[in-house]
Amino acid sequence: MPRNRDDSPDGAYLIHGRYEKIEKLGEGTYGKVYKARDSKTDQVVALKKCRLQLDAEGVPPTTIREVSLLQVLSRSNHVVKLLGVEQIEEDGKVVLYLIFEYLQHDLKKFMDFKKKEKHNPLQPELVKPYLFQLIRGMAFMHQHGVMHRDLKPQNLLVDPKTNVLKIADLGLGRVFALPCKAYTHEIVTLWYRAPEVLLGTKIYSLPVDVWSIGCIFAEMVKGIPFFPADCEIAQLFMIFQVLGTPNEEVWPGVTSLRDWHMYPQWQPMDLHTHLEGLLDHQGCDLLKKMLVYNPNKRIPAKQAMKHPYFDDLDMEVMDALENPEVLNAGMEYQENA
Ligand code: ADP
Ligand code: MG
Repeated sequence: MPRNRDDSPDGAYLIHGRYEKIEKLGEGTYGKVYKARDSKTDQVVALKKCRLQLDAEGVPPTTIREVSLLQVLSRSNHVVKLLGVEQIEEDGKVVLYLIFEYLQHDLKKFMDFKKKEKHNPLQPELVKPYLFQLIRGMAFMHQHGVMHRDLKPQNLLVDPKTNVLKIADLGLGRVFALPCKAYTHEIVTLWYRAPEVLLGTKIYSLPVDVWSIGCIFAEMVKGIPFFPADCEIAQLFMIFQVLGTPNEEVWPGVTSLRDWHMYPQWQPMDLHTHLEGLLDHQGCDLLKKMLVYNPNKRIPAKQAMKHPYFDDLDMEVMDALENPEVLNAGMEYQENA
């Protein structure tokens, strides 16, 4: 008799009599993620198992949030598609499985794989389309009033056959309503965390995602994380050493933020030199605009899509990767967001 366990051997247990676990893909904040086969459609899927608090009335709010957001946002091909939700009882406990389309790699694993293969960062032919799709997906999310708050390579999925990139793990995403309330801190993984969050701002918004996109962009170019610090103060210093220590002139209000101190003074470095010439001047210009200290001056995603860096990108190819419905309605998200 197959046992009803997380670590049951391959194929020993069909979830809901339908999904056959193949392997564990990851384990994070909310639960485990499995690769599985849907025996009904023979499609390979990703199952995200969500632990449910027993005392809560059913499903935890983070999960409800993720589900309802994903249903709306899944319309974009640059957000991982939610195929279904199953609420089942396992070992006497209620368990929720979110069923997603499966993609072969997350961007972190893909970059590691590329590095092993050639000792090289991602080829420039991949960096640009990946970055564009990431920005397009985020512009769509932002237009729907949703920030991701945990953008990092592990939360981006890529299919090397089609070169499509999709945003995943919207568990920390949150619909923001104006006026913005103070959100909890400790949200974005340190390396991709925006300076306003590191400095303890009470109010933050969409620009935190753009900062993360900038860090991911530089990482794709360089082949290693751009600001890989191991604690908050080291994270700030690492940023300051590259971009210069911020001051009231470049970022009005910075010295009034909760965690502001008299920091050492560093001068900004030239990004082109810092990236060892791996990124052309247009690319450096876009990166600089995404890594602007003042969140109000940081380039919004919809505007970044139009940056000259993308001028030589084949838009027909890019458009073919997005859902035509979203593209047709998309003029709106490009203009009014
Ligand atoms: P967590 O909240 O645990 O971070 P994620 O949704 O980020 O949950 O999933 C954890 C990992 O599982 C990801 O980093 C990725 O490697 C893998 N993964 C998640 N969703 C998929 C998917 N749809 N297809 C393939 N791999 C996935
Ligand atoms: Mg994740």
